[in-house]
Amino acid sequence: MDKWGANLYGDPCAGCGFGWSLTPQEAIRIVEELPTRFRVLLSGRTGFERHPDLAWTPAAYVSHVTDNLRNWAERLAGARLSGMVEVPGYDPDLVAQGRRYNEIAPVAALWSLEHAVDAWMAAVTAALENDIVLQHASRGTQRAEDVARNNAHDGHHHAWDVERILQYASRSDA
Ligand SMILES: [Zn+2]
Repeated sequence: MDKWGANLYGDPCAGCGFGWSLTPQEAIRIVEELPTRFRVLLSGRTGFERHPDLAWTPAAYVSHVTDNLRNWAERLAGARLSGMVEVPGYDPDLVAQGRRYNEIAPVAALWSLEHAVDAWMAAVTAALENDIVLQHASRGTQRAEDVARNNAHDGHHHAWDVERILQYASRSDA
């Protein structure tokens, strides 16, 4: 089994400081605020800035968060609507390559994120109400609330990545 959540990142996360002992409702609120958070971060920036340690641009991280939310919302919806609870892993780097994240217009990435968050909130709320539990190929049992926390962490962590890229870019401009 793959490590995930607090076992993988630490509690709090060694990078972004995310604490894992939050309620599903608090996790949903973090995801709900992501579009505004990324919009504010990217305001006045190109969205194509780079950091030497990170493969993606700020806009590419927005696209990753979007696709991650869509992927998990779809899985939770699938379990609720069809009873299919067994889900495979997916490769975010292959998705990034296939969609060419670094070439997506930042404003379009932000537009997609807003829609993905709306769909995710509906899917997660319904999954929590129906006590949906996924069986993930490499992570094992994933309750709806585990998915909510994992996805909230992903968004929070990558907002931190974007902050790091933009700080680095500001320094190199100076
Ligand atoms: Zn983190």
